[in-house]
Amino acid sequence: MKLCQVLRNVGKFRTVFDFGGREVAHWFPGHMAKGLKQMKAGLKSVDCIIEIHDARIPFSGRNPLFQDTLDVKPHLLILNKMDLSDLSNKQRILKKLQQDGVRNVLFTDCLKQRDDNIKKLAPMMVKIIENSPRFNREENTSYCLMVIGVPNVGKSSLINSLRRTHLKKGRASRVGGEPGITRAVLTKIQVSERPLIYLLDTPGVLPPKIQSVETGMKLALCGTILDHLVGEDIIADYLLYSLNRLGNFSYVEKYDLPEPSDDIQYVLKRIAVKLRKTQKVKALTGVGNITVTIPNYSAAAYDFIRAFRKGELGPVLLD
Ligand code: GDP
Repeated sequence: MKLCQVLRNVGKFRTVFDFGGREVAHWFPGHMAKGLKQMKAGLKSVDCIIEIHDARIPFSGRNPLFQDTLDVKPHLLILNKMDLSDLSNKQRILKKLQQDGVRNVLFTDCLKQRDDNIKKLAPMMVKIIENSPRFNREENTSYCLMVIGVPNVGKSSLINSLRRTHLKKGRASRVGGEPGITRAVLTKIQVSERPLIYLLDTPGVLPPKIQSVETGMKLALCGTILDHLVGEDIIADYLLYSLNRLGNFSYVEKYDLPEPSDDIQYVLKRIAVKLRKTQKVKALTGVGNITVTIPNYSAAAYDFIRAFRKGELGPVLLD
């Protein structure tokens, strides 16, 4: 198909997404909010907060509930998974965050063996703490940091990455987390020598703030809400809508489509055929039962979403 014709078709794509009257009320399990109260109490002994969020959604879903505590505390926002985000317009992101009062921002890729940005964290932290109005302690007092953020943004990966950088150790050993094994003490990781800065090795989990169905959908796409609570079919459709809006047609080549399409059923069918994800179902006809082979739409939707989350569809900025 000629490029001009592709572009003509693209011009007919959706410019708004129909959420079909969905509500976000049940998208986040209530029990998670309970941890917040406990965490707020814990935050009192913390000198600086490292808030981590997904770089593909720098503005959506961050939870401001801890802000009362934050107001008086130095704060650094880490936008992680930078490898998956389209950061060609980084200045716009930084400017908007600054307008929202977020001045200290660091982009990271915590899966990289050696991320130079991770190395910047400790010196940045020292500067932030020393420049804060509360910095009036003796030289040799130690400081304590805590990593907080919504699920799946990379809190544990950040802690592991800091361990790799500062302790020259590999992955953190697994203690606790399984029934019967209790963590005796809160372990601290040293991340800076002067001043002495420690990081609590247990992150604080925040429930995401879901302002609208669209925010919820972005959070779901980034894997911070359990897929089945939102529905994989609609997440896949929102992904297709987003990629088309951004002019990112990498799915066309990946799944052998003849051209970009805005029709999720059609796209999922092509994905199912390409991946040989089909299922046999019995159909009742006038002459009795027959078995027909149909595309497995759920498996196709799962693969489409997974490919996006792994970065196989290219870097994307959803906000
Ligand atoms: P947590 O729930 O916030 O502690 O998140 P995890 O550290 O468990 O990470 C969630 C998922 O994101 C895991 O599959 C990680 O491998 C992945 N992840 C973490 N950091 C990065 C990153 O910088 N880039 C990419 N591509 N994936 C990451």
